[in-house]
Amino acid sequence: MDEKMFSRETEILNKGAYLKGRADSPEAAPLYLTTAFNVEDLDDLEDMYSVQGYTYIRTRNPNRNALAELVTYLEKGENSLIFSCGMAAISTALLSILEQGDHVLSDKTLYGETIDLLEGLSKFGISVTFIDFTNLEEVHNSIQPNTKVLYTETISNPMITIVDIEALAAIAHENKAKLVVDNTFTTSLVIRPIEKGADITINSLTKFANGHSDVSVGSITASEEIIKKAYSLQVLLGTTANPFDAWMCQRGMRTMDLRVQKQMDNAAKLAKALEKHPNVLKVHHPSLDGHPQNELAQKIFENGYGGMLSFEMPNNREKINEFMRRLKIAHYAMTLGGYRTTISHPVSSSHYAVPEEERLKMGITFGLLRVSVGIESPDDLIADFSQALDVFNEEISYIK
Ligand SMILES: *Cc1c(COP(=O)(O)O)cnc(C)c1O
Repeated sequence: MDEKMFSRETEILNKGAYLKGRADSPEAAPLYLTTAFNVEDLDDLEDMYSVQGYTYIRTRNPNRNALAELVTYLEKGENSLIFSCGMAAISTALLSILEQGDHVLSDKTLYGETIDLLEGLSKFGISVTFIDFTNLEEVHNSIQPNTKVLYTETISNPMITIVDIEALAAIAHENKAKLVVDNTFTTSLVIRPIEKGADITINSLTKFANGHSDVSVGSITASEEIIKKAYSLQVLLGTTANPFDAWMCQRGMRTMDLRVQKQMDNAAKLAKALEKHPNVLKVHHPSLDGHPQNELAQKIFENGYGGMLSFEMPNNREKINEFMRRLKIAHYAMTLGGYRTTISHPVSSSHYAVPEEERLKMGITFGLLRVSVGIESPDDLIADFSQALDVFNEEISYIK
């Protein structure tokens, strides 16, 4: 813009539209809240295209690219895409690699809406089978000639079971299928599924990665070839994250390792304390000796066993309500991975629609509570759960 003055009604639109002075190396990445970028002329536009530069918000934005660079580094892939949320990442990734007639073999304990999404693929002529991925024999036997995708999560919700990513990748590749892994519950601090042979790693960055419970963002990380296909579909579906959310998420992720490490240490301490509490019937956390995949967790996890745990209390609705009201630090919230400890009740939320008989087979009793452990003082947390659990004192003596 030259400095020639136009009338006020024109200048009010243009003054200060371009930054002046040396503004190209701020300490913190600036937020590019713009739907489009200007070019000088058609030659400049050609240049922009040739370097995959910035033209329009839905196709490319500097804040999304910056976040993708960080996620790609952490998840050890070739490239990443940033989405408006985890579900946008999952749906776009799956739709970009699946075709009519294909089959998906999936673990049966997944994030509830991922199950709904997979079941919904039947309207496009894509079939899905849900089985127990901790049973590798069953995985082998359930592969069909048209199986194109094996889908799993690193830690299942809410029973906190673990699958062997390396073994699943081998089965997938023997059968020319792709292994897609949702790494939301563990984060790249604990495991990088691509290093174990996965083809696509998905993250709901909304959770542990951003960690501040304030924006929703998702990502996929994979080879250039897979990302290229997914990118074409992402632009058409419009599942891109807005620049502000991408910027916020990158800000949150700068401290991800510090938070997640503390969350995992706290989770292990809380799990141990809950296991000792006389009013707790069972605790599920991979750090515990009695966990069914404790050995596998030791083999494939680094730095800890995740910040998620669940535990079983007596099936008494009144007492559970009282317990929830008595908790002072941990609060009920329909999310996880934030810096504050939150609880959720699977029977009333994620597994509300699952028939009783089926959910009991999965071990999900009415008294099961899921905890996303925060970065509070572990002693305060343990004391808080402990005093709230006292509501079951009479109940427990009745059971025993
Ligand atoms: C929350 C979550 C999702 C969905 O992510 P959104 O950002 O809410 O769309 C997917 N997978 C897992 C394991 C999750 O916890």
